[in-house]
Amino acid sequence: MKCKKVIPWIKAWLDDELDPARAALVERHVTSCPACRALAADFGEVSLAVRSFAAGPVPALDVGRVLECSRQRERESARIVTSLRRIAAAAAVILFVSGVGAWRQWFDDRPSADDTVASLDPVLDFLFSDPIGADEI
Ligand SMILES: [Zn+2]
Repeated sequence: MKCKKVIPWIKAWLDDELDPARAALVERHVTSCPACRALAADFGEVSLAVRSFAAGPVPALDVGRVLECSRQRERESARIVTSLRRIAAAAAVILFVSGVGAWRQWFDDRPSADDTVASLDPVLDFLFSDPIGADEI
């Protein structure tokens, strides 16, 4: 019998869930095959661990403590949200104030209409000058 036929039955064999004929086949193979014997040993350890875990006492659930932990987490979350809102409000105020300040500075520093015309004087002089003496013709 090949390993791949036996492997699905090993767990059932360990749990005495196979009919006697099949159990004898599995036992014969596991006895002669080191790989399947090792697998059966692993299954046995897992079964033993599960049985010992299930047989142990189950701790009582302290509902009051669970609820208190939940409320404490809610309070911490609310505190964090409140802090974040304050930080966001402060940032908004700072942005608004600095924006107003920047706008006022731009408004105060912008050139007046007279300054603009005065700064164009050399350009206008050049454009309307008479470099070739056309007025003399
Ligand atoms: Zn095998």
